[in-house]
Amino acid sequence: MRYIFYCPNCDFTGSDEQNKANNPPKCPQCGKILNYTGVSQDDWRSKTKEEKTLLKDKWKQSHLELQKDINNRRINHMLTSGYNFEGYKIVSYNGIVSGEVVLGTGFLSESSASLSDFFGTVSEEFSTKMVKAKEMATSKMLDSSTLKGGNAIIGVDFDYTTFKNNMIAVSANGTSVTIEKVL
Ligand SMILES: [Zn+2]
Repeated sequence: MRYIFYCPNCDFTGSDEQNKANNPPKCPQCGKILNYTGVSQDDWRSKTKEEKTLLKDKWKQSHLELQKDINNRRINHMLTSGYNFEGYKIVSYNGIVSGEVVLGTGFLSESSASLSDFFGTVSEEFSTKMVKAKEMATSKMLDSSTLKGGNAIIGVDFDYTTFKNNMIAVSANGTSVTIEKVL
């Protein structure tokens, strides 16, 4: 049986197999990921034009609310290297999250080949890039936690792996959790 998929961006509806619910196809009109609606194609066909419009409005509304919730959680995400937040309780553990950034060849310029240079003028360039890399890795970790339904990350920790040819990987790791204010 085929089910209806909906695009909240451009209002497109189409049908596909139910097993696509977890990995929905892209909208053929605008390219955004379609939403699975749970309404079968037969059901959909039996509806009047007005009923269809009402349903589409409902789908769009719940999509907007979900989007708002995701944005709020992403913006207000809390991070700690510890395992709790003062004044909050952890209501669920959502799994391990990580974000990784690889700084490619040349992240240290050639002039940094000698140690004296490294601790001289180049060290500033190096630390700027490391700070940037840590921020990017953290940002990826935040995205992952948000998608898992979290609003905070505990046990945040950074790992550095060096490779030959001046390459270094920075990874941020932690456990995504959902926290609530203790009243
Ligand atoms: Zn679309």
